[in-house]
Amino acid sequence: MGYGYTLDVADRQTATGDIGLVQAFVNTVDLQDGPEELSDPNTLKRWLVANGLLDASQPVDAQDLRHAIALREAIRAVIGANSGSKVYPVDIATLNEAAAKSGLRMRFGADGRPRLEPEAGGAVAAMGRIVATMHAAMEDEDWTRLKLCSSQSCRWAFYDRSKNHSSRWCTMASCGNREKARRFRRQTKTQA
Ligand SMILES: [Zn+2]
Repeated sequence: MGYGYTLDVADRQTATGDIGLVQAFVNTVDLQDGPEELSDPNTLKRWLVANGLLDASQPVDAQDLRHAIALREAIRAVIGANSGSKVYPVDIATLNEAAAKSGLRMRFGADGRPRLEPEAGGAVAAMGRIVATMHAAMEDEDWTRLKLCSSQSCRWAFYDRSKNHSSRWCTMASCGNREKARRFRRQTKTQA
């Protein structure tokens, strides 16, 4: 128990590869308790460089930060569709804008496989690479396992490894139990 258990729960909910990168981007903020990892252009740049989406020589400004956060929340909304939420036109527009601005084009790589690559440079291209990664992730049959926590104040992206894809909460320790307690209180109130 203790530490080992907590890590184990976290690991079980973390995807790898393209799905994992999309998940990591969306989870750069904990909407419920903070912190916001992308708090300024520098932290955004560090994240993009660390994930191989941007060359360290490229600048990142406040406008790039606003775009990145808008894109992140649009991606969160699309992931929400895997757990039954509605996707709004504004989210689709944000995704299409990021794809168009970066000039995503299909290119064959040295390995002979096609992928989407941005024609633009800098942070705009990095946003395009995130959209391209999302596109690749959505081709994966496991994409639908990436879900949002059903707690409206949480909406953390988690990877559902359960056999029948039935998980609804990000972690039993926080959201699952909290929601159960809330429901229990509601029931007791109704009965009283
Ligand atoms: Zn949660």
